[in-house]
Amino acid sequence: MNRRAFPIVISGPSGSGKTTICQRILADDPLAAYSVSVTTRPPRPGEVDGDHYEFVTEGEFDALVADGALAEWAVVHGYRYGTRRSVIDAHLADGEDVLMDLDVQGGMSMRKAYPESLLVFIQPPSHEVLEARLRNRATDSEEVISTRLRNAIAECECSPDYDTCVVNDSLEHAVDEVRLVIARERIKRDMGSGK
Ligand code: ADP
Ligand code: 5GP
Repeated sequence: MNRRAFPIVISGPSGSGKTTICQRILADDPLAAYSVSVTTRPPRPGEVDGDHYEFVTEGEFDALVADGALAEWAVVHGYRYGTRRSVIDAHLADGEDVLMDLDVQGGMSMRKAYPESLLVFIQPPSHEVLEARLRNRATDSEEVISTRLRNAIAECECSPDYDTCVVNDSLEHAVDEVRLVIARERIKRDMGSGK
């Protein structure tokens, strides 16, 4: 395959809907593949090693950083998260656009490491809705939810640094909008006009 594939970074505060939107896009987009990150966060119930994340120890993460194996990494909500350069490059070499669920630090790092990246920010409709969705998700303790809500304010302030911002009010609309942004970008790049 000789299309020029590119990384697609999806960022937004915890609970904004990044995971849900990525899953919906991946379900019916043969040209997109998911980048599984490495993390020191313990798995949530139901999370599968190698599928949701590659779960590693602090020592293993240190070794990846020392070896220069990570294209980007950051401390998010108290744990380290990173992306293996080899994972991104393998998908790109296969002609697959690489969907990456990253925090805003990761988004900015990707802009430098892979300047061809498309950066999409997922915005919650309001702080109150975000809080309700985090509680409904029921995957995190009260303490973890409080940290994530506190961090949400600073994260949303970074949205102007992104190529586009999508408000996740109705899930259907948000997914359609992200699909449209990706489709438009592919056409632009296939036509060779750049971003
Ligand atoms: P993130 O990956 O950004 O932390 P999730 O995809 O886990 O967010 O979404 C947080 C919660 O909100 C999940 O329980 C999800 O099912 C729900 N959710 C996502 N988008 C919507 C939406 N548009 N309307 C209502 N609930 C939503
Ligand atoms: P969660 O613990 O909810 O799965 O993810 C917490 C945060 O870490 C989210 O904002 C998510 O986007 C971010 N994240 C996940 N993987 C990576 C990664 O590889 N690098 C960076 N920088 N952030 C990541």
